[in-house]
Amino acid sequence: MTEPLGSAGAARPIVVANWKMNGLRRAGRDLAEGIARLKQAGGELACDVIVCPPVTLLFELHDTLAAAGIALGGQNSHAAEKGAHTGDISAPMLADSGCSHVILGHSERRANHGETSEAVGEKAAAALAAGLGVIICVGESEAERDAGDALDVVGDQVRKSLPEQGGSGDIVIAYEPVWAIGTGRVPNAEQIGEMHRHIRDLFKQLKSGDVDGLRVLYGGSVNAENAADILSIEGVDGALVGGASLSAEKFWGICAHYGH
Ligand code: PEP
Repeated sequence: MTEPLGSAGAARPIVVANWKMNGLRRAGRDLAEGIARLKQAGGELACDVIVCPPVTLLFELHDTLAAAGIALGGQNSHAAEKGAHTGDISAPMLADSGCSHVILGHSERRANHGETSEAVGEKAAAALAAGLGVIICVGESEAERDAGDALDVVGDQVRKSLPEQGGSGDIVIAYEPVWAIGTGRVPNAEQIGEMHRHIRDLFKQLKSGDVDGLRVLYGGSVNAENAADILSIEGVDGALVGGASLSAEKFWGICAHYGH
């Protein structure tokens, strides 16, 4: 089982940077150094921070981030341990590169690579077996929300994407409405709170009551301006951040919500 990153207990919030397919070596190094500097200057945070750069930068950035107490994560991994899967990366390879976590089932992978929830579940099982914590993404499309199906759609994704193995200490769920990713649009507090409660209830049911350590993150157009409002919603245990994580200052403006 993956150890909690911080010292304040398993339910510490997490802020995750998802750089997606952005960053050549120089720019990635500058960004990581900027985040590390802000973290070191900012004092204790009541949250853990994970940076998920492109796989080409994992080795490059590991030491800089680790020295600042920032964990490293992958953005995807294969369900197989090794083998004839040209272009893919296995979970043991991420672990071997210093990752503690991997994002799985991001809506861009579901849309661009046809990843089903069942496939996400298989990947999650493999990642847990490799000792990684998994950040499983779920979220409804705009049409599904407009049709009143958001709770059912996300519930179905959670049910099918959760591996049998693992529990609240090593599985994180990120609620990311597809229509809020990169659009500047955010669900209202009631919608976010309702979905996070729904996910937590379902997890509790599926994992025989093991829910106390579960972190349910919100993702979708989180920025330094709206972070305080979003992260204060009951049941929101941190954020998965895309666009705003490509600026050290903007990303830090979000993490700083958990500062003292
Ligand atoms: C994401 O893609 O995981 C994400 C949350 O992106 P953004 O913050 O840019 O909406």
